[in-house]
Amino acid sequence: MEASTINGKFIGFLQNNSIDCISCKEKVVLNLGNKDLGKCKDCNLIQIVSSCATQWFMRILVQSSTNPSEQRKLSLFNKQVEELVALMNLNKPVSQSCAERTNLHGSEA
Ligand SMILES: [Zn+2]
Repeated sequence: MEASTINGKFIGFLQNNSIDCISCKEKVVLNLGNKDLGKCKDCNLIQIVSSCATQWFMRILVQSSTNPSEQRKLSLFNKQVEELVALMNLNKPVSQSCAERTNLHGSEA
């Protein structure tokens, strides 16, 4: 895997998360009536959302500090998001309720 370095600042980001089925690891859709429960899109298992693993995804736009017209788009998957959050000493990218709304809006895209 190639690596490159850019020094700059975040000028925008988009984040999303998905919930994995505890049985088959496919995507779980939240139950609109009861947010504690979700249903797997693949095996239809209804499950308690808090016992499922959440996969985070972020897309970041970085502006170069040496050349402001240079911008890079970076995609971060779950492991990188966790590393970034740890690096920045944050708890989670957003509150859980906000994440759920993000997920609901993005789930049919
Ligand atoms: Zn499943």
